[in-house]
Amino acid sequence: MADATGVAEAMLGLPGFRVLGVEETAAEVVIQIEMSADLVGCPGCGVVARAHGRTVVEYRDLAAFGRPARLVWDKRRWRCEEPLCPVSTWSESSASFSARCLLTNRAGAECCRQVGRNARPVTQMAAELGVCWDTVMDAVREHGEPLVDDPGRVGEVRALGVDETTFLSATKDHATLFATGLVDLRRRVVIDVIEGNSATDLGRWLDRQPEAWLGQVRVVATDLAESYRAGLDGRLDHAIRVADPFHVVRLGNRCLDQVRRRVQNQTLGHRGRKRDPLYRIRKLMLTGTERLEGPGLERMLLGLRLGDPDNEVLGAWLAKESVRDVYLADDPADAALLIDKAIEGCALDPVPEVGSLGRTLSRWRTEILNHHTTGASNGPTEGLNLLIKKVKRAGHGFRSFANYRLRILLHTGGVNWPAQRPPAPRIRTRSPR
Ligand SMILES: [Zn+2]
Repeated sequence: MADATGVAEAMLGLPGFRVLGVEETAAEVVIQIEMSADLVGCPGCGVVARAHGRTVVEYRDLAAFGRPARLVWDKRRWRCEEPLCPVSTWSESSASFSARCLLTNRAGAECCRQVGRNARPVTQMAAELGVCWDTVMDAVREHGEPLVDDPGRVGEVRALGVDETTFLSATKDHATLFATGLVDLRRRVVIDVIEGNSATDLGRWLDRQPEAWLGQVRVVATDLAESYRAGLDGRLDHAIRVADPFHVVRLGNRCLDQVRRRVQNQTLGHRGRKRDPLYRIRKLMLTGTERLEGPGLERMLLGLRLGDPDNEVLGAWLAKESVRDVYLADDPADAALLIDKAIEGCALDPVPEVGSLGRTLSRWRTEILNHHTTGASNGPTEGLNLLIKKVKRAGHGFRSFANYRLRILLHTGGVNWPAQRPPAPRIRTRSPR
């Protein structure tokens, strides 16, 4: 590449194009291009075509040397002169340019990688490239949908996690809208997200999956939602159902919190304040006893003596500990003994919240104990929920569920990203340490 044209083409990096001129402003680089083929055959009959005017189309490309780049393509039209040929005229096209949006394919693919894989806000990409929000989102859809729909993405799932997430928080117009995440617990990827959290929503999704795919699912882990249990019924009956330990333990914690708040209100007539004895020990009470050190335990017992006249909070604390005990046991037989003790203890407790905890434990006894035989838990799902939150933050509130689903799956769905280009050779530092 000795001449200036050759240099410009090498920098442009679009095979089949030549550079006609470059202008630069403070805000962007404008590159005039045309296709280099001057001799073109008709796609219908192969007869040499005749030039038939030009139209100018503009595309946004990746930034060139730190500035947004605009490609101005002087696009030719061709005409077939063969009278019997059904093709009359056509205009040039190139695999490097999207037919659907204003971005070159490489810029579109980069939008998809940044917004999808890296969970960057669409507005940021739009500002960087100098295009509007819809252009970037169109590119994310154009490049991202095939990656998400790729049948090789999900593959065989032996342990399936079903977990609730929020899609939109409540506003004055609607209550909180929920979504359900389906997770491959082994690969730790979200395989799908569905709108809603009802039995019907889950059932409809399962009904769409191929029989053979459902057949290889061995374990299903869910939180303690009756809706998910009902949604699974009759569909994945061969799989072992596991109640997720995290949610079971949280149930005990919530019961304790409820009782503490109620007793606080009944004894002092107001919500917890900094100096109230029960409020001061609220975190200590949620800590597992095995992690409570001597002085902490003393402080907690003192708080209970001061703020819990009828030992209701103490009862809830014991119930919470009895739930945790189930997971301290490794042996399934020990775990069974411990959960029966917990259920029995809750049933004897006159505090209504504790009684209700016991009934829930009893309803989910089998699923809770299945954790000890399968080792399955939604632990990975909870990690993925953090990634989903990251996508939600980047989206600043989604209006479209389809976009929400697409971006979650691009970020955490185990997508096979196409290789961009060979990795750049590293430039060595001039003063080695
Ligand atoms: Zn022709």
